[in-house]
Amino acid sequence: MSASVTVRVPAKVNVQLAVGAARPDGFHDLANVFLAVSLYDEVTATPAGTLTITCDGPDADKVPLDRTNLAARAAELLAARHGISPDVHLHIAKDIPVAGGMAGGSADGAGALLACDALWGLGTPRAELLEICAELGSDVPFSLVGGAALGVGRGERLTELPVGGDFHWVFAVADGGLSTPAVYGEFDRLTAGVHVPEPAASPVLLDALRTGDTSALADALANDLQSAALSLRPSLAATLAAGTEAGALAALVSGSGPTTAFLVKDADAAASVADALIASGTCRTARVATSPAAGATLL
Ligand code: ATP
Repeated sequence: MSASVTVRVPAKVNVQLAVGAARPDGFHDLANVFLAVSLYDEVTATPAGTLTITCDGPDADKVPLDRTNLAARAAELLAARHGISPDVHLHIAKDIPVAGGMAGGSADGAGALLACDALWGLGTPRAELLEICAELGSDVPFSLVGGAALGVGRGERLTELPVGGDFHWVFAVADGGLSTPAVYGEFDRLTAGVHVPEPAASPVLLDALRTGDTSALADALANDLQSAALSLRPSLAATLAAGTEAGALAALVSGSGPTTAFLVKDADAAASVADALIASGTCRTARVATSPAAGATLL
């Protein structure tokens, strides 16, 4: 058994998030086009007498260190499947904004799963790891897979998508988080009595990804949760405007927010849009990233 195993896992942006009407079980059918971006958490698994979690990074104080942490739940589910005890120390080096709509918790769940599987020498088949991911949460399977993918159902049934080039992004990190269930609740409130179409992936957007065409992707970006996120956090409108005025090709709320995402032409544009966003005072900080990024990877 090795001394410790570290896994690197990317954040995501939803380049399209089409949301259907609330189902009787309260969930929504989605057509969710995920793109992994080069902001990463690292999860290190080390043998220990019992399951413990530590976390460091700028947002570490907002991360639960008990069994509600998705990394802990991943270790428990994997251990239960194999009839072993989840005796492991998990350390999360957190760089993905917390509660930011970038699937940071999901990244840690996928990372812990892969790290524990390697540490415990289990060799769990990929399909079974993906099943455990889907049990952990709708965004977790994508954190394992990375690249780009279309998620349907609650977003967890994935089809990998081809990506024909690199895309450059700036992410404006807001003060505080937004609760994903609260944003869906606001979506339901805003769409009450309105016909909500069946969610479907945009062929134009899929084509833009496939050909690596940044300006076509900029025109096709769409997030059905954006109005709900803006309704709960009106100040995000100023952030979106600041990025657009600074030259971003397109701006949108990332997933359920409050992180906002700006698609830009190249690395130089990313640096200047990030500087302008920070100078605007409309966000806590701004980060540059590229996509696609690889899924959960053993280091
Ligand atoms: P998504 O984009 O998947 O909707 P998010 O990026 O908005 O998620 P997360 O960073 O995953 O949000 O955190 C949402 C909540 O999940 C946090 O407020 C925290 O209470 C809880 N949580 C559980 N495990 C973790 C973890 N490992 N890292 C961060 N938050 C976690």
